[in-house]
Amino acid sequence: KTAVFWFRRDLRLEDNVGLFHAYENECNVLPLFIFDEEILQKLEEKDDPRVGFIHDQLVRLHAALKDSGSSILVKKGKPLDVFCQLIKEYDIRAVYTNRDYEPYARERDKKVKQLLKSNNICFLDFKDQVIYEADEILKNSGDHYQVFTPYSAAWLKKFKASKFESLSLDKRKKGFYPTAPFPLPSLEELGFKKSHIRIPPLEINRSLIKNYDTTRDFPAENGTSRLGIHLRFGTLSIRRLAVTASELNPVFLNELIWREFYMMILYHNPDVVNKAFKPQYDRIRWRNDEKEFKSWCRGETGYPLVDAGMRQLNQTGYMHNRVRMVTASFLTKHLLIDWRWGETYFARKLLDYELASNNGGWQWAAGTGTDAQPYFRIFNPTAQMEKFDKDRRYVKKWVSEYGTPSYPAPIVDHRAARERALRVYRQALEE
Ligand code: FAD
Repeated sequence: KTAVFWFRRDLRLEDNVGLFHAYENECNVLPLFIFDEEILQKLEEKDDPRVGFIHDQLVRLHAALKDSGSSILVKKGKPLDVFCQLIKEYDIRAVYTNRDYEPYARERDKKVKQLLKSNNICFLDFKDQVIYEADEILKNSGDHYQVFTPYSAAWLKKFKASKFESLSLDKRKKGFYPTAPFPLPSLEELGFKKSHIRIPPLEINRSLIKNYDTTRDFPAENGTSRLGIHLRFGTLSIRRLAVTASELNPVFLNELIWREFYMMILYHNPDVVNKAFKPQYDRIRWRNDEKEFKSWCRGETGYPLVDAGMRQLNQTGYMHNRVRMVTASFLTKHLLIDWRWGETYFARKLLDYELASNNGGWQWAAGTGTDAQPYFRIFNPTAQMEKFDKDRRYVKKWVSEYGTPSYPAPIVDHRAARERALRVYRQALEE
């Protein structure tokens, strides 16, 4: 009998909880990855670097499993259809996987589980993507948190009392399904092509993490880890990173807690995907000017820090956190464009795109979220530049015409835009 291990956003062999248990408990573990058509269809660009990244990881897993006398089965289709077909081809006893918490994934897994159950196949899922799941950090009352600070205190308390050991597969055991390598579809066969965008390497830079609290706010510095994409696709174990962070820098660990906070919020409030966390903010009368939105997307607003950020995003699939806050605030407050427009644009472009964090970040900036930036505190993009890019190193790197006559004039006046935002927000809240 065969047990399938279904890889999703955990593309590694080392310290992978679900894979470890499958390998320990079963004799014939068949690794599987499904390029989910429902997800691929939504991608607008054929050279989406995230698909290329997944493909590169599958090539790596394929080679590593070949060394173990096995392989990885790579399919393209709807997961339910793929499982219907696999059940006919293999004598499957169980399907192992790691839990995925996004609304779409939960619905998908529910259906797969039902299908398997009706065929007497167990579906065994594990916690791997997070240190603590949404229901593991609760108030004394049993309710979940809505505000970050007390959540993070409870998270840390639990974390300090826990032990984390890295889970390695026992090389002496021959646990994988024995087979000659399965064919691996090329990126082109999947309907995609390679992107020119470079993926940051998987590297835990200890000295960077040590200095993180002093460098992380300055976009011209190499002061943040760039590990987002590796956490997103699980090429890095969150336990390994969190343990390292706790040894080196509590400020860095705190950011990993933000990641889980937003996942928890999304899990308990799936409506935040398209609604304001605080419902009264859905009464805001957004201006939604298409022309201004285009200027923002292209990095042509005449506000150098905003423009540098958008151009960094367009060219590299990355934007520094400080600048994400400034560009998001500018779009929602200065231009009064619906945060959902900006969120969708970031989702298309960010290598490290994560539904929960992106939604949380946007709702924070728009003032509509959990413990959000209050609406009357509006970032001044010029003051932010003075403070965090004093010598304009970041701005000059991304906006080559900065300081020349060809650089555009500001599309809105800061003071007037600020007053307008205050008025429109106040109106929505007082209605
Ligand atoms: P580092 O500063 O090195 O932090 C390490 C890791 O901690 C990150 O990779 C990330 O997993 C986590 N992290 C750090 N800051 C945050 C945060 N504020 N919220 C949640 N997790 C955090 N983060 C995403 O992972 N995906 C997104 O789609 C995303 N969209 C955002 C949109 C907006 C408008 C804002 C303001 C923030 C967004 N963030 C998002 C959070 C943050 O900007 C990025 O996680 C960070 O910039 C990624 O760079 P890094 O890997 O060098 O992070």
